[in-house]
Amino acid sequence: MLKMVELSYPTNALEPYYSQETLELHYQILYKGYVDNTNKTQEQLAEARKNKNFSNIKCLEKNLSFFGAGAILHEKFFENLGPAIPSTPSMALMEQIIKDFGNFAAFKEQFTNVAIQVEASGWCLLVWVRTWNKLEILQCEKHQNLTLWDCIPILVLDMWEHSYYLQYKTKRPEYVQNFWNIVNWNIVNKRWGKIQKKDAR
Ligand code: MN
Repeated sequence: MLKMVELSYPTNALEPYYSQETLELHYQILYKGYVDNTNKTQEQLAEARKNKNFSNIKCLEKNLSFFGAGAILHEKFFENLGPAIPSTPSMALMEQIIKDFGNFAAFKEQFTNVAIQVEASGWCLLVWVRTWNKLEILQCEKHQNLTLWDCIPILVLDMWEHSYYLQYKTKRPEYVQNFWNIVNWNIVNKRWGKIQKKDAR
């Protein structure tokens, strides 16, 4: 059974950049829905295997990908947010950012523009592409479209309207700009540390 990741901060801790009302709706209702539906889909898949009835398998696989990717990305998103206490990329992560994007400002500018230009509902992701040993920024439509295989998301930003509309309405760029105030780089650094351990370069 997949469980919801617990928030490491109170639901008002991201104010004023991310309102308590927005966070509570996003975390308690929407994210919970992805976790519940992933579990439900996995139960239905077990049932299908048990009954050797695969007439509905295409729909189940689609749900597994949609709800599962939604659950995973929300987990990473809520984890990589935190109160607006300054945190920065570690030396090791900064080195890789400079190598792959030129400098931190260039990375941030690309990420910001990529996020603002996500078409309809989706995500903006900083990912590690293991096969290339390289960081890239990706747009993801819905939760699972336009991704690359073999990449590990290390910083994620939810660009679905439910993540900002209540507070920011049509001011999508303002939401993205304010996101930078509540990034918890300590978590991003931790993810990067795990990658470095596994993928000696
Ligand atoms: Mn969301």
